[in-house]
This record gives sequence, structure tokens and C-alpha cells, in this order.
Amino acid sequence: MELVELARSLVAFRTEIPPGNEEGCARYIYDFLADLHIEGTELRLDSFEAGRANLVARFGPSEPGLLLGGHIDVVPAGDESAWSHPPFEGFVGGGRLYGRGAADMKTGLAAMLKAVEATSKGKMRRGLVFVATAGEEVGFDGLKALYARKLIPEGAARLGIMGEPTSLRPIRAHKGLADFRISVSGRSGHASRPELGVNAIEKCASIIEALSAWRRTLSKTPDRDLGCTIATPTMVRGGTKSNVIPDSCELIVDTRWVPKHGTAFVEKGLNSIIASLKTKDPTLDAQVELMYDSYSLKLPQSHPAVKLAESITGFKSEVAPYGTEAALYTKHGVPSIVLGPGNLKQAHIVDEFVQVSEAKRALSIYTKMIQSVCQP
Ligand SMILES: [Zn+2]
Repeated sequence: MELVELARSLVAFRTEIPPGNEEGCARYIYDFLADLHIEGTELRLDSFEAGRANLVARFGPSEPGLLLGGHIDVVPAGDESAWSHPPFEGFVGGGRLYGRGAADMKTGLAAMLKAVEATSKGKMRRGLVFVATAGEEVGFDGLKALYARKLIPEGAARLGIMGEPTSLRPIRAHKGLADFRISVSGRSGHASRPELGVNAIEKCASIIEALSAWRRTLSKTPDRDLGCTIATPTMVRGGTKSNVIPDSCELIVDTRWVPKHGTAFVEKGLNSIIASLKTKDPTLDAQVELMYDSYSLKLPQSHPAVKLAESITGFKSEVAPYGTEAALYTKHGVPSIVLGPGNLKQAHIVDEFVQVSEAKRALSIYTKMIQSVCQP
């Protein structure tokens, strides 16, 4: 099967998350790899929930070599009537493949699978690992589950590549992320007598203001590659009725931190903002709760994985504003970069597409990667 056909077949699986439903697509990848009949192949379909599955494949000797990774799930297509072509049809025209997941990142997965096929006759001196995960778009659920159950060993490869859409530019660093919920409590009362209640929305406003000041402080100590840690209020929910003093207000804060900081630093920062507001206003009652976090990534430009990717692609490595599984793999002993077909601008939008020529270049890059790491 040709590369574009394979990518189309993967796009055709409706792996929108929620709910995910990745199992059918994971099984399809399993069958594709099994049909290659590569000697010593170890394939594992990891069904971790009803309808949900990861796929882990190993080829060649146990000496750690290369890990190719990507995710099967896609963000929802939304209103399908807004699409010029049905989002799961995999329409090809004008040198582009259209569909939900065409860029993020089923074409990357297809190019990796075809690269495994293209190199399957070569003599493997180091192992090759291929991982397709579920639930990446909702906090790396699938990959975390794989590591939690030790289905991928620590240091599974000497370097890794995530096929996320980077226009084939190697990405060697990105910020970490942590989302927090700040629950502000007050006391309800009639809106005509505000002095008798404690207005949780007003209290929340004071926190938002303090956050802006903190952001200005953080901007003074940037990371050389990644800029500064930021904390942004992104959602506010509070109040029950127009004439009732609100007794609760919830604030969601999205934070993106540079490697020298981390989730604990940001959490401490938020707590001290509240502690300091409390000294001026004892009626302030707010709790900070971590909802979700993920790691940052920072490989030095001199790292062999970065050097190799730069020499094969012909592009200098860059840094990115978004988080990826590369950070999690790196944390588990597989220094990883992000490098794949498709433009990030195409991810998560209506009429998402990937250039067919770029998909083909990705196949050639992944093939060279396997050859130089596993078949030197
Ligand atoms: Zn992605």
C-alpha cells in the first residue's frame, strides 16, 4: 500500500477524543506491521479501556536504537458540514490530503510505518521501537498508562522522534504545561446589600489582577531558548442569579513553564499570590488545585539526536510553543525530538490538510533515521 493510501486509511478511523475509540485504528496498525513478517517482531496491542488501545512494536536486537512515536487520537471534527470534504474521507486533491488528523498526526504515523517497511530487509544492529498512543490530546493518557504499567522500559531507545506536524523542522525544546483550578468561596446575600455578603467574583478579580503582576515579574527572567514562564487566566465561572451575591467563583489558570521552573514552582507562585492577598483581605478564601501537567523538553543543540535530525533534514532545530510526548519519553530515558509532516497551523482546524510532497519527504527522513541509528 502506498504512503498516501495508508494515511487515508488511518484518517478514515474516527478516533476523535472524546471518546477516543482508538482500538480499531491500533488494530489496523498491528495488522500492517504483522503483515511485514519482520523476523523477531514483538507486537503488543494494549487495550487499556473499552475501545481504547495503544500499540507498541519492537524490531531487531535488544541494544537500544531508535524510537518512532505518535498518537492515534484526533481532536473532534466539529461541525462536519463546515468541511469542504468529509473529515474522515481522506480526500486527495491539489497535492494535498485532507481530513481530521491529516496533519496531526496520522500522516506522520503512516510515514513512520512505511519507513519501517522500507528498512525491513536491512540488517538491524540496534533495536527499533514504534509506539502509537491513544489519548494524547487529553493529557498523554495512553503513554502515561504504558509507562505506569512498564510496557515500555526505561531507556527503550538512544533517541526518539515524535511525528507531530512541524513542517519537517526538528524541534528540540518546548515549555512544560500545568493547568490549575482556583476555587474562590464567598458568602451569598441579596445584591442590594453587598456589605452583608462576600462576593466571590470580586475576590476572584483581585486574584486575576495579581496574576498579571506576577506575569510581569516572570518576564524578567526568561529562558534563553524558550522565553519566560507565563500564567494566563483562561476561564472564569461564577454566580447563580443576577440579584444574588455569588458565593463561589472558579478560575482556571493555564501556565506554561520553562525547564528551570516546573509545576511545583508555578503552584507555589499561585499559592503565595493568594497568601499575600489574604494578608490584606482576611475574607479572601481560595484554594489552588492542580488539574493537569506535562513536562517540558530541552535537548541542547549539541545533542546527537538533534545533530542527526539537523543533518538529515537540512534544517536547523527550533523550539516550539506547544507540549508533546517527546518530553515524557525524554523523562523516561529516550531523548526525543519532534519532527513530522504537516504544518502546526493545520492542526485542529476545519479542512485540515497535509502536503503529499511533505509526507513523502517525511518517509524519506524517517527511513534515513532508521538506517543511520539501527542499521549503521
Ligand atoms: Zn498531535
